[in-house]
Amino acid sequence: MVLTRVVRLAKINVRGVVQGVGFRPFAYRLAREHNLKGWVRNTSGSVEIEVEGDAESLENFLGNLETQAPPMARIEKVKATFYPPKGYTEFEIRESLSQEGKYQLVSPDIATCEDCKRELFSPTDRRFRHPFTNCTNCGPRFTIIEDIPYDRPKTTMRQFEMCPECQQEYDNPLDRRFHAQPNACPKCGPSLELVDSNGNPIEADDAIKAASDLLKAGKILAIRGLGGFQLACDATNEEAINFLRARKRRPAKPLAVMAGNLEEVENHCFVSPEERKLLQSPECPIVLLRWKHSSSSIPPAVAPNLKYLGVMLPYTPLHHILLRETGIPLVMTSGNLSEEPIAKDNDEALRRLRGIADYFLLHNRDIYARYDDSVYMVEGVPQAIRRARGYAPYPIFLPFKAKPILACGAELKNTFCLTKDEHAFLSQHIGDMENEETLDHFENTIGLYKKLFRIEPEIVAYDMHPEYLSTKYALEVSEERGLKSIPVQHHHAHIVSCLVENRVKGPVIGVAFDGTGYGTDGTIWGGEFLLADYHRCQRVGHLEYVPLLGGVAAINKPYRMALSYLYTLLGEDFSVEGLPISKVNSAELDIIKQQLKRRVNSPLTSSAGRLFDAVAALAGVRGEIDYEAQAGIELEMLAPDESGEFEEKAYPFSVIKDQAIKVVKLAELISTIVQDIRNQVPTPIISLKFHNTMAQIIAKMCKTIARESGINKVALSGGVFQNRLLQKLAVSALHKDGFTVLTHHLVPCNDGGISLGQAVIANFSRI
Ligand SMILES: [Zn+2]
Ligand SMILES: [Zn+2]
Ligand SMILES: [Zn+2]
Repeated sequence: MVLTRVVRLAKINVRGVVQGVGFRPFAYRLAREHNLKGWVRNTSGSVEIEVEGDAESLENFLGNLETQAPPMARIEKVKATFYPPKGYTEFEIRESLSQEGKYQLVSPDIATCEDCKRELFSPTDRRFRHPFTNCTNCGPRFTIIEDIPYDRPKTTMRQFEMCPECQQEYDNPLDRRFHAQPNACPKCGPSLELVDSNGNPIEADDAIKAASDLLKAGKILAIRGLGGFQLACDATNEEAINFLRARKRRPAKPLAVMAGNLEEVENHCFVSPEERKLLQSPECPIVLLRWKHSSSSIPPAVAPNLKYLGVMLPYTPLHHILLRETGIPLVMTSGNLSEEPIAKDNDEALRRLRGIADYFLLHNRDIYARYDDSVYMVEGVPQAIRRARGYAPYPIFLPFKAKPILACGAELKNTFCLTKDEHAFLSQHIGDMENEETLDHFENTIGLYKKLFRIEPEIVAYDMHPEYLSTKYALEVSEERGLKSIPVQHHHAHIVSCLVENRVKGPVIGVAFDGTGYGTDGTIWGGEFLLADYHRCQRVGHLEYVPLLGGVAAINKPYRMALSYLYTLLGEDFSVEGLPISKVNSAELDIIKQQLKRRVNSPLTSSAGRLFDAVAALAGVRGEIDYEAQAGIELEMLAPDESGEFEEKAYPFSVIKDQAIKVVKLAELISTIVQDIRNQVPTPIISLKFHNTMAQIIAKMCKTIARESGINKVALSGGVFQNRLLQKLAVSALHKDGFTVLTHHLVPCNDGGISLGQAVIANFSRI
């Protein structure tokens, strides 16, 4: 018996990052493989395919379309409907269809792929050592796009006319550079130039070789990379590192290191399988790895007092060649002065980085969007600390259809978020909104996202803090354009950002631990227990209030926080004698006592971050800081890896009820720590006991709140949860008590995630 083969036509629509990533040639090859006829084309919003053939081939084609998609493609949705055949005789790639108002997802920049790497180091290849090698599977995308549809004339590559050989690759559907918009070669592509700090060219046959010699000689180089300039020096040369720190005005904040390959990384750090995967992923972020202090030739000056080192692998051809040429790991940090945005243009870099870099390695492929390196840590699963290169502007998918909203984020580690349909376009890391340059970068990047994704916001969401530049911007814009503006409480936004990335609606018990957030009662919150969902937020508990002595001064000088806890909780007559903190001079002590009495410029705070600071200062770990959260971080680093007999040891605390709100009283905790210090208990043990206590506070509060509310799901958010030890202890304590625990993965738990939470809350606001 002969079965008649049923021929059918499938109309397929593919959404996601499917343009500029080699999707059409992939569909073309796949259709030919399965002997299917029809066509594929880009539209403004998706890729459309019509294929016909027998049912089994169609089914295989559809399956492979998702499972074998090119590495840079990210498929959101494949929709197929079936019809009678039309009688196509071949398969072709058709002209793109442009549709008004439609938008598409834009691919992030992606690290150099294996095929390109091979060419890069093959002496016979025409792209041998060409620092701008790329293909449809790798290279710049977001940083060079000015508008959609993604075509060369709408990128900063338009000034380079392709040579016949490149053009041929570009036009051939079977070539891996088919429609690779940044396609280039040494003949027709961008080029490098090495100049001194005055902009005078340095004569060199090979700019990378010359740059490498300078790095090996201890010089500091500004290198124009993918999304901006990086400052580089020999990561094994302490003197060069100290120079860089002094010139960049960054005395202690950890610097990232780029190592040539995985083997080199393992010379300096322990790498788990999960971390290895992340290091080698197309996103290629900086990964915080456990440092092998005893054997690593990278001196502690790169990340003073830390157990972890931020390491990444080369992600552009330029980096690959440079790292191979130098043969040493390089410090590779953002090209900026202190907290300004990363420099991106040649002139700008020569102006702004003058006095920091000895030499500049420039190129002439313009960067349209500033783009810092992303930072991740692996705690069970990968967790974003800073989300930028490789990730943005790929959206966070929402479990609902959102209104067009602009959420302006917080002050530090700012990101903004624009929503449309199921997409939350969380911007790349913008920076600390404390200067004009960062505000400009913020405004320009909002403009770019609005244009790329065709979003005209109707609602503007912002933090309640009246002094944040992002708040002022939000109020100005909404007034100017007559838009609805919605204030969102900081910690509510933290918790909702965690909920939405986990696609959970709530209600949950939200534990929001961070440094600073404006509370609805005018005090500064930061050790909060909330009952929250996308819409509502009720504060049900918090850490005990103490005055933030001198406002910002208390943040920069943790010893002031320690004194605030001591005098407020243990009485004004408390004697600091014999404690490390007694080094504070008596005149300042008197001023502090006066401040405490009169409560001048000393708002109340329930901040968990400040409590960490205070304990760090009290225990003599650090009294003054050079970067955000330094004291708390160094306290964490001191805790022993093996807790042994101290596993369960903690300090006492109590919980009282102040009207409907539970308050964690901390007097006993502070006084017992003081006792431990006086009894010369080693600081690592004090650190461990304190971390255990914080985890117990979280567990105890959640248990009580759960009993009253019936809610057994907990979300952990806020910058304090970057503390891995605390996160681990808290999650394990909560699991033991039977809670479901939600943590961050895709978006940072720090203020870099705030804008996502703001957007979601504004979407459900009934104002
Ligand atoms: Zn490639
Ligand atoms: Zn060429
Ligand atoms: Zn925060």
